[in-house]
Amino acid sequence: MTLARFHMCIDGQWLDALSGKTFESLNPALAEPWAELPDADEQDVERAVQAAQRAFENPAWRKLNATARGKLLRRLGDLIAEHKEHLAQLESRDNGKLIRETRGQVGYLPEFFHYTAGLADKLEGGTLPIDKPEMFAYTAHEPIGVVAGIIPWNSPLYLTAIKLAPALAAGNTIVLKPSEHASATILELARLALEAGFPPGVVNVVTGFGPSTGAALTRHPLVRKIAFTGGAATARHVVRSSAENFAKLSLELGGKSPNIIFADADLDSAINGAVAGIYAASGQSCVAGSRLLVQDAIYDEFVERLIERAKRIRIGNPQDDASEMGPMATAQQLAVVEGLVADALAEGARLRLGGKRPQLDAKGWYYEPTLFECDRHSMKIMQEEVFGPVASVIRFKDEAEALELANDSQFGLAAGIWTRDLGRAHRMARDVRSGIIWVNTYRAVSAMAPIGGFHNSGYGRESGIDSVLAYTELKTVWINLSQAPMPDPFVMR
Ligand code: NAP
Repeated sequence: MTLARFHMCIDGQWLDALSGKTFESLNPALAEPWAELPDADEQDVERAVQAAQRAFENPAWRKLNATARGKLLRRLGDLIAEHKEHLAQLESRDNGKLIRETRGQVGYLPEFFHYTAGLADKLEGGTLPIDKPEMFAYTAHEPIGVVAGIIPWNSPLYLTAIKLAPALAAGNTIVLKPSEHASATILELARLALEAGFPPGVVNVVTGFGPSTGAALTRHPLVRKIAFTGGAATARHVVRSSAENFAKLSLELGGKSPNIIFADADLDSAINGAVAGIYAASGQSCVAGSRLLVQDAIYDEFVERLIERAKRIRIGNPQDDASEMGPMATAQQLAVVEGLVADALAEGARLRLGGKRPQLDAKGWYYEPTLFECDRHSMKIMQEEVFGPVASVIRFKDEAEALELANDSQFGLAAGIWTRDLGRAHRMARDVRSGIIWVNTYRAVSAMAPIGGFHNSGYGRESGIDSVLAYTELKTVWINLSQAPMPDPFVMR
């Protein structure tokens, strides 16, 4: 089979790695290579960061006013809309995500760019009611400089958009490093950014491996901000890199999000919510509702009905419209899932569903929807992120216990609460320690809604009205209005 051939985007040019090295990207549905990409090393990263720095200083970008930047972002959103089917197909082939999901995500991206475009010229500083009568003082937001965007494989376009759009709205330049497992759509996005009119060097993409390409980028002395989405172990490397360049940092990490079902919930919706939370995207979602906490009175019925629904999930080719669950995105991730399932069995968790690869003709990295019943919340399968279609369920007796279990986690990214009791919904929303709370729904996203976590789920927020501020420096300007001579130089004014 002939492999599709991609090039990196540096300074508006489409380049091979200087070393000439390449790597293959695999199609998860077939477990075989479909594309070949440049394997960037330190010298390629150097070229990309230098190009981004030059573009940052170039008046063609630096002097462009915020309204004009907003117009470019709006145009990029329009181009994504024009090419949405191509992008959705490409992402589905590259990371094995269901076409119905990539269509949904890509279909929403224009809204995201349009929303952020509107924020570009609303970055107002303020005048300060300063307590020194001879002084006038104000603040202004300025771009930071070169941003490094580090992207995982599970939703590359969406997770890039929530970094790229605010970074550009604020006037920064960016070097993106997608996962070696899913780079194709990010290169296409860079192509559309050039077509939209962003000057060369404003958006760059280097392709390659995390420990080489990614590490060289995050520790580069000219990188001023790192926007990272990925796992905790990698995040620790990135935090250490930022100790070298003091880059500002946002970390969007994983989770072990509780999906809490009270006895008074609408059970049909709660079961759909549980399926959406853990089996959609084959569980490869940072916000996966992988910890099911179910109240005693409905526990048995809930578990049986969830199993009955999950058994009907159609596993198959992600590019088939009828499929409901596709493969794991990588062979490594499949191995991680299998390892954690084996650990759960060894620890005594009761396997109620799945726990194996399905019998399919395709040789992709498929895994069955899996459910464990647990007696103890301390079990590893209740505490560790799987990042696969594996839920663990445990019972609770009352609201106090539900809250205690929900907060018994190193993570704090998302939580679902299913109840018809308004007061309880608000109490739980207030007291659960997570960055996102969904009441009687799950996996809802919007350009207007901030995303991010508490504790080991990371720090910083993406999306929402403040997203652009996270890509700015705040400057304070003091103007001495007095005509009197400068007083005693040895006394602070
Ligand atoms: P990962 O292994 O941490 O990789 C994330 C990115 O970091 C990839 O581009 C990776 O490149 C790169 N990388 C690896 N080592 C690096 C290093 N030493 N320096 C700099 N960059 C490096 O995560 P993943 O397996 O792709 O994604 C799964 C994780 O992401 C899960 O924990 C999930 O919960 C989390 N996630 C969080 C969110 C959120 O918004 N909170 C969203 C999606 C996913 P390579 O892939 O080429 O190695």
